[in-house]
Amino acid sequence: MVLRHQQRILPRIYSISSSSLPTFQFNLSFHSPFFSISSSSDVAVAASVATKSHLAPVPKQLQLDKPLHPPIPDETLLEIPLDKLFVPPEVELPSAATSVARGRVLKGSNIVLGSYSRDAQVSTAEFVKSSTCTEDCPADSLPDFALVGRSNVGKSSLLNSLVRRKRLALISKKPGKTQCINHFRINDSWYLVDLPGYGYASAPQKLRTNWDGFTKEYFLKRETLVCVFLLIDVSIPPKKIDLEYAGWLSQNQQIPMTLIFTKCDKRKKKKNGVKMPEENAEDFLNLISEYFQAAPPWIMASSVTNMGRDEILLHIAQLRNYWLKH
Ligand code: GDP
Repeated sequence: MVLRHQQRILPRIYSISSSSLPTFQFNLSFHSPFFSISSSSDVAVAASVATKSHLAPVPKQLQLDKPLHPPIPDETLLEIPLDKLFVPPEVELPSAATSVARGRVLKGSNIVLGSYSRDAQVSTAEFVKSSTCTEDCPADSLPDFALVGRSNVGKSSLLNSLVRRKRLALISKKPGKTQCINHFRINDSWYLVDLPGYGYASAPQKLRTNWDGFTKEYFLKRETLVCVFLLIDVSIPPKKIDLEYAGWLSQNQQIPMTLIFTKCDKRKKKKNGVKMPEENAEDFLNLISEYFQAAPPWIMASSVTNMGRDEILLHIAQLRNYWLKH
């Protein structure tokens, strides 16, 4: 297999500006179990969804599983304006709002599904190595998808959920490995990369700064890095350190980023201003919106119910297949 070395997907994806999206004036709402889209217009549009060949339906292989999580009621869904959708490269939004409705946007996310979303299933996963600097990372040019987040955000649980192995991520929790870049090879064709967590309350300040510098160097230097998944715990309100991390990634425009909202199953009774996960997610998106020209992709997830697992894998598949082709 011939892989390209110096290709980073971000400039192409993120060059899609919101102004290139059509403006819609429809007074319609579409609801799917995890996604709703609303807009306004005086034109009556049939609710049947017009499709275009380059917009792919969710592949059957990932639909065959019985539902992984109970449906979430419509009222808990984020409303996603069309200009807040993430449109992958080489996907054009058709000129009718209905075309990107139901079935074209990954559940519980703002990600439009394109034609590159094949081979999403994980069949093999193996730990490859722990590296203490970017130069030591595997040199076989397979694409990297990196997970990063505050300590306790649910990074290990998500990694295990993605590969359907209960304890794989324990490897990177072993002494000496928590501060390393840990590579896991998936299907012999791509890497899930477990990066050191940040914001350890108990670590000395000097050590914390070291980890940050070390991880950021990986982001900037790793040429096979296709996407960084920044994990945000939405069972709690937005934290300053997470907002700063997202801000730093946005300033370094060549680093492609996807937000994974974790612990979406934690739904506390609403009292004393305690917010639901989707409200915390919305607050986070609003707070970082000024950093981004175009909306970054985001997915809601839970490692307890496996919500978001298939969607993350489909998103990875379409980024990966596009990256390999270009
Ligand atoms: P890490 O430090 O980021 O690797 O976080 P872990 O995966 O070790 O998880 C930290 C804690 O959060 C553990 O107690 C997990 O059981 C819990 N946790 C992780 N993911 C979820 C989730 O999706 N939902 C809930 N309710 N708890 C979670």
